[in-house]
Amino acid sequence: MTTSQPLADCLFCRIVAGELPSEEVASSDEAYAFRDINPAAPSHVLIVPRRHLTDAAALEPGDSELLSALFSLAQAVATSEGLSGGYRLVFNVGEDAGNTVPHLHLHVLGGRPMAWPPG
Ligand code: AMP
Ligand code: ZN
Repeated sequence: MTTSQPLADCLFCRIVAGELPSEEVASSDEAYAFRDINPAAPSHVLIVPRRHLTDAAALEPGDSELLSALFSLAQAVATSEGLSGGYRLVFNVGEDAGNTVPHLHLHVLGGRPMAWPPG
C-alpha cells in the first residue's frame, strides 16, 4: 500500500485539507467529492482519495479498500446528482489521456448523452 503524506504543493491535497476552496458534493473518511471548476458536462464531479496518490498507475494491491471507497462515493454522487439516465466514470493517466493534476481523481460525468469513443 502506498503511504504518501499530503503534498504541500499538490492542488488536490490542498483542496482536501481545506486550504483551497471547493464546492463539496459528498464526503467520506477515505474520499472527498467536489465540483470540477471547468465542467465538461452538466454534472461533473471529481472524487479524490484524502491521501495523496499520483494516479491510477501508482495503485497497488493494498489500495483495494481505497478504490472501493472512491467507487462507493461515485455511486452516492450519481444518486444525489440525479444521474438515473447514466453517467461516465473516468481516470485519466498520463499525458496522452490529458491528465493535468497529479493526484488520483475519478471523474463522474453526467446529465447529457456522451459519445464513444471519447476524443
Ligand atoms: P485531469 O485532466 O484528469 O487531470 O482532470 C483534472 C480536472 O481538475 C480538470 O477537469 C480540471 O477542470 C479540474 N480542476 C483543476 N483545478 C481545479 C480546482 N481548483 N477545483 C476544481 N476542479 C479543478
Ligand atoms: Zn495530492
